[in-house]
Amino acid sequence: MITIRYSPRMLYILVVSLILFPVTAALGQKKTHTVFFEGRENELHVYRINGEEPGKTLLIIGGIQGDEPGGFLAADLYADFSLRRGNLIVVPRANFPSILKQERQINQDMNRKFTDDHASNYEAEVVDVLKRLICESDCFLNLHEGSGIYSPKWEGPMRNPKRYGQSIIADASILKTDKTGQPVNLEQMALAVVEKINRQIKKQVYRFHFNNHRTDDTDSLHKEQRASATYYATQTCKIPAFGIESSKSLPLEQKIRQHIWAINGFMELLDIQPETPGVNLKQPDLEFMIISVNDSVPIVVGKMQRLSINRGDEIRVHDIVTNYDRGLSVDVIGVGNEFNDMKRTLKIMEPTRIVAKKDFYACGSVFIDLDDKGVKAAPPLKVTRARQSNELKYKFKINGKTVIVENYGRVNLQRGDRLMIEDVISGPADPSEYIVNFKGFVGNRSNNTGEDRGYVIDTSKDILMAKYSINKKGLRYYVLITLGGKEVGKVFVEFQS
Ligand SMILES: [Zn+2]
Repeated sequence: MITIRYSPRMLYILVVSLILFPVTAALGQKKTHTVFFEGRENELHVYRINGEEPGKTLLIIGGIQGDEPGGFLAADLYADFSLRRGNLIVVPRANFPSILKQERQINQDMNRKFTDDHASNYEAEVVDVLKRLICESDCFLNLHEGSGIYSPKWEGPMRNPKRYGQSIIADASILKTDKTGQPVNLEQMALAVVEKINRQIKKQVYRFHFNNHRTDDTDSLHKEQRASATYYATQTCKIPAFGIESSKSLPLEQKIRQHIWAINGFMELLDIQPETPGVNLKQPDLEFMIISVNDSVPIVVGKMQRLSINRGDEIRVHDIVTNYDRGLSVDVIGVGNEFNDMKRTLKIMEPTRIVAKKDFYACGSVFIDLDDKGVKAAPPLKVTRARQSNELKYKFKINGKTVIVENYGRVNLQRGDRLMIEDVISGPADPSEYIVNFKGFVGNRSNNTGEDRGYVIDTSKDILMAKYSINKKGLRYYVLITLGGKEVGKVFVEFQS
């Protein structure tokens, strides 16, 4: 996968370009990356890693509940793994919307949806995919964080048989028949891994335990787990399955480490062998360069794009973004030195090309054109002027559908439509510098800043205040866009009378 090596803004651009481009990318002979529900909030990334030699398949799922980062950040580390023997299927972020909100769930708890509850939502769609992946595997680990610390006997409110933290959970001690018809001793498997984990944990109080939920028993403390992923795995797919629980209260790195010890422990049990270090050769590829001209605000120039400047202007390549982190350089042809022109200020007298390199391998170019009319008219460089230009556009969502609106353009609505102002499309300027104010609507009532992006406006309700509408009739409203207190744009919102 692509690694990011610049600012959060670059990250944004990269994320956008990732959403726009690769769908299913084969990362090499023995790896596949599949994206389900691409471009939607519940986008689901599945990584399959097949070892050199055949063997068992372990499924690792993280982030089924979004407020448990120890699990999904650990799963992440296996998505780019290389294996000598056996296979991994890694779903680092099963429930991406809940991760973005840092909440356990959005509509329903995704880990209580593995029985048919007839509710159709994105959670149900994701669970359908996960069910298939579980049945493809030979063993399944669901990575979690639990509150408190599990103890087989009552020791206090945060340390007792009902707590989850610092335990490996199974739904029973024995899986009576696996898919080959053999019984599997889940308890023994879990205890073997618990023992490996505890070798690394010095403080007695944080040692792991096996936590048998006895999910099927009539007196089980955890009957709700009958709708969980691990229960589905044992009952329907007939594979051993475990919940790995780090205690929520531990430092994040410790939680991630514990998950790693657990995953490595199960890999050892299943004879899935890592290749260390893994060989992951992909063809180097330039994404974009970050260039400034005469010390302007640096701008992003994509692979094969052209940048127009004036003869005698000075350019400086601040950084380049490729699918590699290391070994990167640029060569401004005919200027600078023969090794690396990165971060050097270079005067440009002739049209040229900037070549990005990963080691000795050229992985993409950007072209520099000269505009000899002596006018600073090159569009990519109107960085400061573009802020006040008429080139602003707006991204609205009407009933969930994205609509791009021109500056001073109009949006026609029916009463009852749901409207959201998503963002200002401001070219090279920073959209967060603008204030977008829907006159007659108050987004944040406790602190009315006048900034109305991101709110869903349900126009069937009495939410809009007619006295702020044009002619005060409640039919025509406007959205005012300002920069530094000055008007730079408007959008008119009209209802059919
Ligand atoms: Zn959980």
